[in-house]
Amino acid sequence: MPVNAMPRTPAYAALDASSPLAPFSIERREPGPREVLIDILYCGVCHSDIHQVRDEWGGAIFPMVPGHEIVGRVAAVGADVVRHRVGDAVGVGCFVDSCRRCAPCEAGDEHFCEAGMSGTYNSYERDADHRFDKSRPTYGGYSTAITVDEAYVLRIPDGMPLDRAAPLLCAGITTYSPLRHFGVKAGDEVAVVGLGGLGHMAVKLAAAMGARVTVLSSTEAKRGDAAGLGAHDFAATGDRKVFKERARQFDFIIDTVSAEHDYNAYLGLLKIDGTMVLLGIPDVPVPVAAGVLIMKRRRLAGSLIGGIRETQEMLDFCAAHDVAADIELIDIADVNTAYERMLKGDVRYRFVIDLASLRGGG
Ligand code: NAP
Ligand code: ZN
Ligand code: ZN
Repeated sequence: MPVNAMPRTPAYAALDASSPLAPFSIERREPGPREVLIDILYCGVCHSDIHQVRDEWGGAIFPMVPGHEIVGRVAAVGADVVRHRVGDAVGVGCFVDSCRRCAPCEAGDEHFCEAGMSGTYNSYERDADHRFDKSRPTYGGYSTAITVDEAYVLRIPDGMPLDRAAPLLCAGITTYSPLRHFGVKAGDEVAVVGLGGLGHMAVKLAAAMGARVTVLSSTEAKRGDAAGLGAHDFAATGDRKVFKERARQFDFIIDTVSAEHDYNAYLGLLKIDGTMVLLGIPDVPVPVAAGVLIMKRRRLAGSLIGGIRETQEMLDFCAAHDVAADIELIDIADVNTAYERMLKGDVRYRFVIDLASLRGGG
């Protein structure tokens, strides 16, 4: 065992792309001078976890311990840590390190690091010079502890329920960032496509920013919930006449759908100069017709999570506006069932793993 290693940490891992997640154990290190050791209390289940354990995006690193919506309490800190103290409620999102010297890193856009971010899982830790160390894969939050550099650890605002805060670390920032970047403002007509983990956060955040929010869901099933989340309007896209009736209605569309679907139909719902931002990542390329963009000077964009500074800003915004995720708390033994339910769109609206279910051999 290396000098700085601790007793093995319980986790759940996929051993290959076709196996279900199963109990596993990993090594976590004692915190270095600028690192914090976090006891993980809750971890959200993101659809990206499913894409990656099934190797739908290619390049998967196995064994894989998923989980990048991590909330816990600081259990120990290194000698030079200044941002966090033992006992603090903290979060870790989609990445745990980056090169720290490229232009995006210096601008606080660590997720766009030119050398590549160190994803919280399915990636590699950095060496002392902040270069990838291919001998040390990263393991995510389906585990009871994690050691992370303090600069990549977020502060959970006082009073925020910790289980409902976990999904903010990915679903929250992924939807907050494009709403801010594209300048969505009070009174704008915003459509949210797909009411899952990301979608329900998009509804809450856009409504908190004063937009008029319409949910476009594949079926009628979530109509009642949409209003409860703060949406002003709802339409089921199974009925294709929606695409005629609502043509040119929206200033901004957030598309969170995880599977292949027709972008062109949704682009037709944008006003002149409207923007549709893709957040969902289907595993196949989807064709876009130039005409639907050209004829109304529409824009099709994408957006990736957000940097550390903006993630903290989002957490503070959520605290100020009383926004947190709607969750279904599960034991870790139920995570494979949760995946199956998410694949059917049956999630209200984020599964969150209670890591108490993994402690003490549970
Ligand atoms: P999720 O909770 O499973 O929600 C996805 C929703 O999309 C479903 O609830 C469903 O909503 C809709 N949907 C699913 N399959 C569909 C289909 N075949 N046709 C139409 N609608 C369908 O997933 P999530 O965690 O929100 O993640 C959504 C996507 O975003 C994933 O691809 C994920 O990898 C990606 N993601 C991207 C980023 C980023 O930085 N860009 C970050 C995190 C996640 P309805 O029932 O309302 O139709
Ligand atoms: Zn995610
Ligand atoms: Zn960088």
